Amino acid sequence: MKPTLTQLTHLSTGDYFATWLRSGTTVESLHGSDGRCLASSLGAKLPRLTKAEMAAAHAERHPAYDLAAQGTAARPELARRMQAAADLVAGGLVTLYEDGAGIVASRSHACAHQVDDHHCDCQDFQFRGSWCAHRIARRMALALGQPELVRPFVAPAAFPQPRLSISAPSPAG
Ligand SMILES: [Zn+2]
Repeated sequence: MKPTLTQLTHLSTGDYFATWLRSGTTVESLHGSDGRCLASSLGAKLPRLTKAEMAAAHAERHPAYDLAAQGTAARPELARRMQAAADLVAGGLVTLYEDGAGIVASRSHACAHQVDDHHCDCQDFQFRGSWCAHRIARRMALALGQPELVRPFVAPAAFPQPRLSISAPSPAG
């Protein structure tokens, strides 16, 4: 059965975040600026977005992008990673566990990284030993009060002012 597009959001990254109804189940997906499906929940195969659908999509800022702006003001050298982290949070690719540890999937879902307060197993962190996009994404998800999730975070209408706490690098880093 053909899925029905129920909601489409144009992310500030240029990508699209879509919600579909398929056989009574809600499925979320991330689409590139050309409309092609990049990733989806439940590994669902979803159609490419049409030009008309993309034109009608409303632009929305996920609160993670506000955190990225806030974080970039404090740590301009992390600007690119802040943006990448916001993309991960907005794309619903961060899963937090009760102990605060998290799993951050790559946008292509090709791999996932284990992240806690001090470490990430990605190459960026192994090489630089500092704030990689995954550690920032985990912090953003914590700051936004994102519960353990299987679906992307959706901000409530009245959202408390989130704060992103990104400390200066340690002397060793
Ligand atoms: Zn990482």
